[in-house]
Amino acid sequence: MNSARRTGRWGVGGGRERNAVVVGGSLAGLLAAHVLAGYADRVTVVERDSFPDGTKPRPGVPQGRHPHVLLEGGQSALESLLPGFLLELRAAGAPRVGMPSDMVLRQNGRWFRRLPATTHIYTGSRAQLEELVRRRVFANPVISAAEGTDVVGLLGDASRVRGVLLRDRFGDARGEQRALEADLVVDASGSGTKAPQWLTAIGAQSPHEETLDTGLAYASRVYRGRNGVLDGDTAGYYVYPSPAQVHAGGALPLEDGSHLVIVSGLRGDEPPTDDDEFVTYAKRLPHPLLHRWLDEAEPLSPAFGYRRTANIRRRYDLPGSCPAGFVATGDALCTFNPIYGQGVAVAAMSAVALREALADPRRTPTTRRVQRALLAASRQAWDISAGADRKMPGAVGNAVGGGPADRFADWYLRRVQERYPGDPVVGRVFRSVLSLSAPVTALFTPPVARAVLFRPPATTPLEPPATPEERGS
Ligand SMILES: Cc1cc2nc3c(=O)[nH]c(=O)nc-3n(C[C@H](O)[C@H](O)[C@H](O)COP(=O)(O)OP(=O)(O)OC[C@H]3O[C@@H](n4cnc5c(N)ncnc54)[C@H](O)[C@@H]3O)c2cc1C
Repeated sequence: MNSARRTGRWGVGGGRERNAVVVGGSLAGLLAAHVLAGYADRVTVVERDSFPDGTKPRPGVPQGRHPHVLLEGGQSALESLLPGFLLELRAAGAPRVGMPSDMVLRQNGRWFRRLPATTHIYTGSRAQLEELVRRRVFANPVISAAEGTDVVGLLGDASRVRGVLLRDRFGDARGEQRALEADLVVDASGSGTKAPQWLTAIGAQSPHEETLDTGLAYASRVYRGRNGVLDGDTAGYYVYPSPAQVHAGGALPLEDGSHLVIVSGLRGDEPPTDDDEFVTYAKRLPHPLLHRWLDEAEPLSPAFGYRRTANIRRRYDLPGSCPAGFVATGDALCTFNPIYGQGVAVAAMSAVALREALADPRRTPTTRRVQRALLAASRQAWDISAGADRKMPGAVGNAVGGGPADRFADWYLRRVQERYPGDPVVGRVFRSVLSLSAPVTALFTPPVARAVLFRPPATTPLEPPATPEERGS
């Protein structure tokens, strides 16, 4: 037993068995359970779905049908939590895509130069990623799963959460409720979490919610290409959204050689899930490349839509907001507009933050302290996502307004973005910031600031560049 378990530095403990419950067995929940296993005698992951055999999508994570890139910040976090994980991911066939060399990219009216890669993303399916994490996490005998089970409420009162109320979904006990006591409950039940209502039901406060919604909607469909636009030299294609180009879309490679194609638009002009209209919608992108490719490619799945893309941050960290023994992580704490591809990375970075907060020898890991550490792990991703969405036409929510500091940041960032597609120095640093592997302050270091303030934007290609300028690492 490790020292934290011995000394009882979290929970009520006192010599008896120390239990943790994690609500939700998706990426944030699994990784939180993995960390808690170092501090608890028993960790129970309660999951509404039955876990699938293999890598099929499951109903509890409908977003699993849509593209999931794994950013570099998330890669490092996963590797530090589960050593050797990235090798496993590659061995399972997840494509590792060099940015910007391997992709044809466009933003703000400019094609990106295909400069040598300075950042890599993984673009394999979310189901495969989750399955690999699940296998590693449940190999630990301290962690068990209560599958096919809903959490329907909390036990405890306004000062302390003491467990969860469960309801079985299947089998003889279907519909029956039972209590599961715990010293710590971690809510990792995703963006649709009911924890605010559960907290109110035991007399505690529900958290203040910050929201910012652009009304962005996705449709995604798997295709196998028949022409060579997306071939050995070009792994994928992506047009990013911007206030002047609200339709976005692209194709990202999957582990089996097919591509997951996404098109997106804003409220009132959502992409269709009808087969023919899906292809026609791609004509809204500023170049016919994707539309032409789709016309010839073979569809391997129906199109799936997704509309709940608001940024939502639940401020459990504020004074008086949360009883002891309860913390939230992953999308249940902070959901991002998925177009920026950050949620999985933040789930993993949050698990690292949880590990550090629990292991800190200088401070008792109170609920508030742990919650603050989890929030801090999502701050940069929130700033990126909310900062960009604030400028999108039609954005609504109580986090839409920015202060005077945001006006300077917006001015500087606009200049960064003008240089991003063509300037190697600005491109490298901005990509690292967006990948959550460098802090935002890296954008203000002298080489970047010099380029941003004094150099004009570099020339960029007039047409989608078919090949990389030279091979990167
Ligand atoms: C369309 C879309 C595209 C995305 N693309 C990307 C991307 O490219 N890159 C990226 O990093 N992230 C992306 N994300 C975000 C990413 O999917 C999530 O951040 C990630 O799955 C981690 O979320 P989570 O574990 O917190 O919650 P989820 O993955 O939503 O999982 C919540 C889990 O809780 C379970 N559950 C819910 N309620 C209960 C209950 N009451 N009792 C028991 N179990 C319950 C659910 O069944 C589910 O398993 C995308 C999201 C969407 C919506």
